[in-house]
Amino acid sequence: MSIKIEKIREEKKKGSIIFLLKGTNEVFANTIRRLIVEEVPTLAVEDVEIKDNSSSLYDEMLALRLGLIPIKTDLKSYNLKEQCKCAGAGCAQCELKITLKASKKGYVYAGEAVSADPKCTFVYEKMPAAKLLSKQKLDVTMTAILGRGREHTKWSPGWAYYKKEPIIKVGKVEKPDLVAEKSTDGVFTLKNKKLELNEEKIYDSNLIEYYAELDKGITVEYSDNIIFTLENWGQLTNKEILTKSADILIEKIEALEKQL
Ligand SMILES: [Zn+2]
Repeated sequence: MSIKIEKIREEKKKGSIIFLLKGTNEVFANTIRRLIVEEVPTLAVEDVEIKDNSSSLYDEMLALRLGLIPIKTDLKSYNLKEQCKCAGAGCAQCELKITLKASKKGYVYAGEAVSADPKCTFVYEKMPAAKLLSKQKLDVTMTAILGRGREHTKWSPGWAYYKKEPIIKVGKVEKPDLVAEKSTDGVFTLKNKKLELNEEKIYDSNLIEYYAELDKGITVEYSDNIIFTLENWGQLTNKEILTKSADILIEKIEALEKQL
């Protein structure tokens, strides 16, 4: 079995990538999807020491919010606690300290936090952590650790999904106006009263089956290729996520091999 990957589109700003998987099946695609969502580790705030919080958010709410702010993750510098040399006691290789102090009226943004590791900071600077009224204060010290999405979704590096590649055939269309009007995702447009198929929109469309129902002139078949979409939350790049998921898959296979 030789698997080929063909990049369809990458939007760096959105952090998304769509690619075509050829020469494989849904079992493999789903394995990669699950490894991404549940196994690829990232850094996230796990402990919060609150010295001062007079904002309107309860301490628990504040801690929850801080836990969900994505942290740029350097997988080479950090270990999962259970795999660290310190045996889980906590050291610079498995824990990251981030402090956040604010006393100005208005929003407290993630960008105001100071990380002990300049490579690993909150990804989105304009993400609000809390809001302060005058004379209210925030002073917290956070400890971020590597974790996996299967334990808590805050450690998930992104969102992944896949579907089979549709092949649309346009024959004698009876109601081109109707199809074009219902085509809110731009797959079909009307040009000189003729229905035009915009191939590049097909990969994003969720209405393919609907078009076939609308008009008998449109038929849909599915190829053996799989359209795979990955959107990262910012902790890791798409390439890092996919490479790490492949590494984990190899580790798991080797572990299984040893048991046989
Ligand atoms: Zn350690």
